[in-house]
Amino acid sequence: MLNWDTIDTVLLDMDGTLLDLHYDTYFWLEHLPARYAETHGISAAQARAQLHKRIIEEQGSLNWYCVDFWSAELGVDIGALKREISHKVAFRPYVKDFLSALREAGLRSVIVTNCHRTSLQMKLEQTGLDRLVDGIVCSHDFKVPKEDVRFWDSLQHEQPFDRTRTLLVDDSLAVLRSAAHYGIRHLLTIYQPDSRQPARAIDEFPGIDHFDQIHPGVRR
Ligand SMILES: [Mg+2]
Repeated sequence: MLNWDTIDTVLLDMDGTLLDLHYDTYFWLEHLPARYAETHGISAAQARAQLHKRIIEEQGSLNWYCVDFWSAELGVDIGALKREISHKVAFRPYVKDFLSALREAGLRSVIVTNCHRTSLQMKLEQTGLDRLVDGIVCSHDFKVPKEDVRFWDSLQHEQPFDRTRTLLVDDSLAVLRSAAHYGIRHLLTIYQPDSRQPARAIDEFPGIDHFDQIHPGVRR
């Protein structure tokens, strides 16, 4: 599927790619509505309806990923609520093997995430992901999400890469489109970002079920 001899940098999304999106799905659809309902004295169903409407309005914007924005908007401490279920943060299958194989093969690995610094810190504490890759770039530092093509220019300044020799793996099709527009040559999606949801049928980009399908093996 991939010719690893044509790649020297691997950009990796975190949520839904390296980590099971179930944590985030559970947080936004179950945990937050339950705690929001308690705080505001309404039913969980009412909370879910109110939150869903509000959250969808921000989809794809940097606010959508912003812990501070949602804390102010909803009057709850999103960072603290996220920590309450931090035990649910989990790797997707074969991720650790894949990351160590990238190292052994001499390939550079950089996490590129829209995850807010507050959640990112908690997820790194839970997983130790920062010790398994060569760099982590958070789009909030650039003030534009990965869905915006300007993100890749900013990334280029911080972590220079040859776009013709770079692979991006990301479960978000909007992000893959933005990366394609920028000219990143190798793009892969993840068919089943959330282990509790069915796999998606996608033909716009090539994809993988799990990272064992693109294991680079040990190169010279
Ligand atoms: Mg993702």
